[in-house]
Amino acid sequence: MYEMNYLAARLAAAAEVRPEAPFLLNAENKATLSHGDIWKGAERMAATLVRLGVRPGDRVAVQADKSIAMLELYLGAVLAGAVFLPLNTAYVAGEVAYFLGDARPHLFVCDPARLDELKPVADAAGVAHLLTLGADSGTLRDAQASEIPGFHAVARLADDLAAILYTSGTTGRSKGAMLSHRALASNSETLRHYWQFTAQDVLIHALPIYHTHGLFVATNITLLAGASCVFMRKFNAKDVLAAMSRATALMGVPTFYVRLLHEEGLGEAAKNMRLFVSGSAPLLTETHDEWRKTTGHAILERYGMTETNMNTSNPYEGERRPGTVGFPLPGVELKVCDQAGDTLPDGEIGVLEVRGANLFSGYWQMPEKTAEELRENGWFITGDLGTIDPDGYVHIVGRGKDLIISGGFNVYPKEVEEAVDALPGVLESAVIGVPHSDFGEGVVAVVVPLPGADESQASLAAGLEGQLAKFKQPKRFVFVKELPRNSMGKVQKKQMREEYVGLFT
Ligand code: AMP
Repeated sequence: MYEMNYLAARLAAAAEVRPEAPFLLNAENKATLSHGDIWKGAERMAATLVRLGVRPGDRVAVQADKSIAMLELYLGAVLAGAVFLPLNTAYVAGEVAYFLGDARPHLFVCDPARLDELKPVADAAGVAHLLTLGADSGTLRDAQASEIPGFHAVARLADDLAAILYTSGTTGRSKGAMLSHRALASNSETLRHYWQFTAQDVLIHALPIYHTHGLFVATNITLLAGASCVFMRKFNAKDVLAAMSRATALMGVPTFYVRLLHEEGLGEAAKNMRLFVSGSAPLLTETHDEWRKTTGHAILERYGMTETNMNTSNPYEGERRPGTVGFPLPGVELKVCDQAGDTLPDGEIGVLEVRGANLFSGYWQMPEKTAEELRENGWFITGDLGTIDPDGYVHIVGRGKDLIISGGFNVYPKEVEEAVDALPGVLESAVIGVPHSDFGEGVVAVVVPLPGADESQASLAAGLEGQLAKFKQPKRFVFVKELPRNSMGKVQKKQMREEYVGLFT
């Protein structure tokens, strides 16, 4: 099926063998859509796109709530040879204007409730067609319903683009990462094997599908394995807990696990499960340990990014080491480098660089940015700082841009955060550097206290005496109710640096 289309041929291989296999399960554990059905829906989407004039290589942008129709749109775009471009639903009109202006899609699909607001934005960007997609309505659904399955997949080669995903822009303006058919196919095949997904698996799919984690990792693995999923519009701890008795795997961001730990009956509910995967942001060792105590399962932490898909993973069999992101995946090379790209001696902290078929093809219409980050010899400078321990486990110590240089000394935020988090009365913390007239940057710990804890600078400072070198100790503790996080659970350090910029001046 679809043999001329590199990615679709691979993603649909399981559906070809067992089209009747369940893809989507409802609350009664009944199959509501089979693998064959989902591809039929995708074929009708592809026919819709072609009727609207979408040609191979055209971008198809969508900003809509999570739905099966949106998944069909993704697969339909692949079948039509188009480039799928999902946008975070949180983006406001001004941000959408930037993405549409940059990517120049032929078609933009938006939430029906935002049509009036976004129409002028789409018009200004020269978008040819604006359609809508809601939970069970919208002009795209109407158009899809009037098409019949049987679309002949457009031929696409391994290097052709399948998607553009804009980076979350936590350190600057969003860039469009161009992802080829090969990059997506190779990474999902690797992960399916590494995490041992089979047709018997039932995945709890509670991640958003505008991001690499939910769109590619979760969805592509389910398709490839011929597995099924419980598809949730949004993460809700109670719903996820209730689904566990009929599921085998969960993919989540650390916040999922933190929230689930507050639910009663977690240990019992998790009995049926075989795998809990976490990524997109660091999972605290404490969360890992507590999860293990409550459920008996060791959360499997992996590390990836929009530009690279997944790079490393803790092992499926063997020790899943808390606070680490495991080993480079098969087919992925990883090294710890200095700024020039030379490999550092074992055990040192440096910039992580990666290479493999999983990598993006460059930033959309930003050749200079691409050249800055993607070396000619194929190594990508991730911007993450890390180290490899003597057993080969990769540790991430933070984003390069989050590194603090205080009084000429490097301070790695994660080390300070771990020390602060271990103090009594602290729930969690984020450590940042802000301008300081004497030291260049001063270390600041933004702390979320435990309920009822005493918010005292002096006691926290005293607790760190002897724990950390003086230059690493925060010069100021700021107390907040919660840390600012984006929808993938990433702490927004840039935002905090801006907020506390004047603390020492
Ligand atoms: P994104 O492109 O939005 O997926 O963000 C990618 C970034 O998230 C990476 O460059 C890392 O800084 C961070 N990240 C992803 N997974 C992990 C992890 N398991 N531990 C720590 N940081 C992570």
